[in-house]
Amino acid sequence: MQQGCNQWRHCAVSKVVLSAQDVRKRYHLGSKELSVLQGVDFDLHKGEFVALQGASGSGKSTLLQLLGGLDRVSSGSILFDGSPLRLQTAAQAAQFRGKHVGFVFQAYHLLPDLDALENVMLPAQIQSESQLEVRAKELLDKVGLRDRMGHRPSELSGGEQQRVAIARSLMNKPRIVLADEPTGNLDSTTEGEIIELLKQLHEDRQLTLLVATHDEEVAKAAQRVVRLKDGKVC
Ligand code: ADP
Ligand code: MG
Repeated sequence: MQQGCNQWRHCAVSKVVLSAQDVRKRYHLGSKELSVLQGVDFDLHKGEFVALQGASGSGKSTLLQLLGGLDRVSSGSILFDGSPLRLQTAAQAAQFRGKHVGFVFQAYHLLPDLDALENVMLPAQIQSESQLEVRAKELLDKVGLRDRMGHRPSELSGGEQQRVAIARSLMNKPRIVLADEPTGNLDSTTEGEIIELLKQLHEDRQLTLLVATHDEEVAKAAQRVVRLKDGKVC
């Protein structure tokens, strides 16, 4: 684990995939305004594994949602491959997410009526059914669930459900994977297994991975840690 971009030896030369520039986010609740992000500057480089830390309520999930096109900034810019994200319509946002971003959530977000294989295949775009199934099976194999493909979420442990969610996040060969507290619902043994899986996927597939986490073990596994405090990255 290394602290800060200037100590990461590839920083100067590697490509920035995703960038937040003076990003601010305010939420309005009735007449009250809550200023969560107050000028966040942050670069995610191709192939990096970065942990995003910060106290509960510091805005980690908010930042992930903005970076992944799930929500819009109040001001500032998100750049993807050097160009500002254009998310004027829901369709534009959905297209950006579907093509470029894999999401992993704390509570897995699997569809209960679909089995593991169907859940992994769900986000897939423009491929024949058979190609799709081959890829989903390869991913489930990769996350160690070759013999659980026909199981529904209720027939899987928490760790197994998170493996399915991780396989699903990779289905469209995303340029970046954003994970929000992926180990937050897991016991410590399973947590270690999921961290190991993320690490392994990062190494084998040169994934670009940003993980919001409270978990010190995730932070240790990452190449770089960035912290959110008082609405900024420090
Ligand atoms: P973290 O993930 O670091 O715990 P969040 O990004 O979830 O933090 O939340 C940051 C702050 O923004 C919290 O005070 C939270 O209550 C508030 N917040 C998050 N989402 C919304 C929303 N949709 N509307 C209003 N306030 C929100
Ligand atoms: Mg959060």
